[in-house]
Amino acid sequence: MTTDLDDVVGSIAAELATWAERGEVATYIPQLAHVDPARFGLAVITAAGTTHLAGDADVAFSIQSVSKVFTLTLALGKVGDALWRRVGREPSGNPFNSIVQLEAEKGIPRNPFINAGAIVVTDTLLAGHAPKEAIGEILRFVRHLADDDEIFIDDAVARSETATGHRNVALANYMRAFGNLDHDPALTLGVYFHQCAIAMSCRQLAAAGRYLALDGRHPTAGGRVVSSERARRINALMLTCGHYDGSGDFAFRVGVPAKSGVGGGILAVAPGKASIAVWSPGLNRVGNSLLGSIALEKLVKATGWSIFGP
Ligand code: GLU
Repeated sequence: MTTDLDDVVGSIAAELATWAERGEVATYIPQLAHVDPARFGLAVITAAGTTHLAGDADVAFSIQSVSKVFTLTLALGKVGDALWRRVGREPSGNPFNSIVQLEAEKGIPRNPFINAGAIVVTDTLLAGHAPKEAIGEILRFVRHLADDDEIFIDDAVARSETATGHRNVALANYMRAFGNLDHDPALTLGVYFHQCAIAMSCRQLAAAGRYLALDGRHPTAGGRVVSSERARRINALMLTCGHYDGSGDFAFRVGVPAKSGVGGGILAVAPGKASIAVWSPGLNRVGNSLLGSIALEKLVKATGWSIFGP
């Protein structure tokens, strides 16, 4: 399919700018509650390296749970497949912060992208480190992936997450009681809250996700971030679990691996084709960016990038 990506990206942004129904911004911390719902950014970086931007593609936002893709990648590099003894690989069919399955499943979270699973993943990154070092390692890794040292952690967001994250405290303590957390829950959560507070623009996020579109290869530094098998598996988890309780619907409508965050960002990967980031702060009923999902649906339709065929 021949498409002028600048036109496609530009016309999606122009069309969505006029939409009145934009979902609800997250309100659990003031830093997210005060974000303007009219914001919209879209960035596409193709496998060949061309960049196509629209709207607020250079405005940094709170990536929140999109960070779980990067910490999963780091943790797999650190402990390998042993990670799967502590976290599953099945969609949860439950909200991102649900505790109900944990009891039945004895403290082993369903997948690395719900909060409980991501907290276990972060716990592995803490091994042998002080929390500050683990936070530094995560930030350095994301900067390396995006080849961009401007990426930062928003300390005000991290403080607010810490002050309000009672459910995450409950999840962490619950898993600790089952022996599935190696560190003091407060230390693991300190790292988790900081990874959620990473701020990035769509351009930076799309750049950071390129290794997943390139079979695990780093696009600019040369060499591999992960093996091609691991890239394929991370993409599989993004497809099946990347949108919480809306993962099936997202796969049905869009059909590419993607991970959303409560800040309204989504990182999507069209393997072999492109890395895509979209940001619209208003969320749908299950906590995924409403217009972000619609923008990706339109983009994939126009480009034929669904992994299930054009
Ligand atoms: N910091 C949020 C939490 O852990 C992230 C949730 C999300 O992005 O879905 O509750």
